[in-house]
Amino acid sequence: MNEFKQPFALGQKNDAYADYFTGQSYISVLTLEGVPSFNITFEPGCRNNWHIHKGGGQILFCTAGTGWYQEEGKPAQKLNPGDTVNIPAGVNHWHGAAKDSWFAHIALTVPAESAATEWRGPVSDEEYNKL
Ligand code: MN
Repeated sequence: MNEFKQPFALGQKNDAYADYFTGQSYISVLTLEGVPSFNITFEPGCRNNWHIHKGGGQILFCTAGTGWYQEEGKPAQKLNPGDTVNIPAGVNHWHGAAKDSWFAHIALTVPAESAATEWRGPVSDEEYNKL
């Protein structure tokens, strides 16, 4: 058990999505009714692969630690507690922790017919270490 302080539960190791992350992440299901919502926690250096939310997009509510969000072709944006990120459907992007900090966000799936996530390749160490 780590000592990272955050308002929502750390949950379980995010094994189901391990193939799409670099480093260890954790997932806690907040609700599956109405608007499916999850608390995702990233250990320092952990980030997800480039990916696209098809159908309805995604909203992130940053709750603890320091992280990054980047859309393809744009500079990475530093994330702090209280930040909201609205990710339109179809935009290639990644999100994760800073290299020296744990990070947690709530991820909300915008309801839509045929909502799905299309996973692409990892964010390379070379790209990530420049941040
Ligand atoms: Mn996303």
